[in-house]
Amino acid sequence: MKQVDYIIVGQGLAGSCLIQTLLHEKQTVKVIASATKKPSSEIAAGLYNPVTGKKMLLTWNAKILFPLLEEFYKKVEKEFQTRIIYPKKIYRPFADIQSQNDFWIKPSDEIKAFAEPEQDSKQYEPYINNPFGGLSTKQSGYVDVKAFLDVIKQQLLATDSYTAETFDYNALTFDNNKVQYKDTEAKRIIFAEGYHNTNNPFFNWVPVKGMKGDVLTLKIEDYPINDVVNKHFFIIPLPNGTYRMGSSYINNFEDDLPTEAGLKEITAGAHTILKKPFVVLEQKAGIRPTIADHRPIIGEHPEQPLVLIFNGLGTKGVSIAPYAAIELTKFLVLGQEIKESISVNRFYYLYSNQKSSQ
Ligand SMILES: Cc1cc2nc3c(=O)[nH]c(=O)nc-3n(C[C@H](O)[C@H](O)[C@H](O)COP(=O)(O)OP(=O)(O)OC[C@H]3O[C@@H](n4cnc5c(N)ncnc54)[C@H](O)[C@@H]3O)c2cc1C
Repeated sequence: MKQVDYIIVGQGLAGSCLIQTLLHEKQTVKVIASATKKPSSEIAAGLYNPVTGKKMLLTWNAKILFPLLEEFYKKVEKEFQTRIIYPKKIYRPFADIQSQNDFWIKPSDEIKAFAEPEQDSKQYEPYINNPFGGLSTKQSGYVDVKAFLDVIKQQLLATDSYTAETFDYNALTFDNNKVQYKDTEAKRIIFAEGYHNTNNPFFNWVPVKGMKGDVLTLKIEDYPINDVVNKHFFIIPLPNGTYRMGSSYINNFEDDLPTEAGLKEITAGAHTILKKPFVVLEQKAGIRPTIADHRPIIGEHPEQPLVLIFNGLGTKGVSIAPYAAIELTKFLVLGQEIKESISVNRFYYLYSNQKSSQ
């Protein structure tokens, strides 16, 4: 029987960030990741943007999340000698005169650390529609999520710590305060299954909802802009000269395949933002694991503390996952309490409801 500290199920952004923070703490892991359940992380455009939404507000916990995520991915880059993170300014054209006035007149001190009115909006004018000017972000950019997942997987394969299989919940047993799964024994098991958590018998009461999305790769003619542009849709310049553009938000879906509606919506967006012709080279789709309060979910099962969850990354996995992984690692390794706002405890009442209705 192989002995490890933790079994981790899933190797998307949640699983990968947790694996890396545990390894940094000299813990041992065994990872089980399905070869058929497509990770949302493989589709993610990788953007991290501290100023989001139509109202251009600061995202949750930005002061902590954004410095921490850059430190985290840069450390991974150094460890694996692979480019992972691309810090970049995001130029956000104002939608109308109202939002322009709001931002110029009363930017709060908090937001000033992350964004400022763009002084030279004219440079973008030949390429994009920006009649009201715009703002530019700091501490923003994108992560090459695929490159990140690849280096983590290669590291696990090299130490025989990775199995590509769909987890068989019936094969999980508990003995002597340990968990056993097939030929592996561990102190605890952590499920980081993204949207597929809905099929997990331990955590199917956790209110993770799927939000499908499409993302496109574009070729844009005569478009030398090297910043990310974000006007409802984002356009990210990639190192190979193409552009990633997204994304759509679809609540009702039957599969995780690219949609015609998503293609139409994003290309219509491209026509409103871009002044230059473009062609679509590729379309991909995935399912984000969202949660109504937009906070991650980490912690123990209410009755079986050897079984834990890491989920709820929603639309912002790149920026939330390193923080949540570090908080979960502090809990596992140091016994430090998990903050209520990100703990699975906040949904224990749903488990009680489920039990009492059975
Ligand atoms: C179109 C689109 C664009 C996006 N763009 C961005 C963006 O720009 N920036 C950003 O921050 N976020 C973005 N996201 C969101 C981001 O993808 C998610 O927040 C994040 O990927 C969720 O990571 P996760 O690890 O929780 O889940 P996933 O990435 O889905 O990973 C789940 C893992 O669990 C495995 N698994 C599931 N069930 C089992 C099982 N029973 N047995 C074994 N393995 C199992 C899967 O194979 C996978 O490895 C985007 C999402 C989409 C769809």
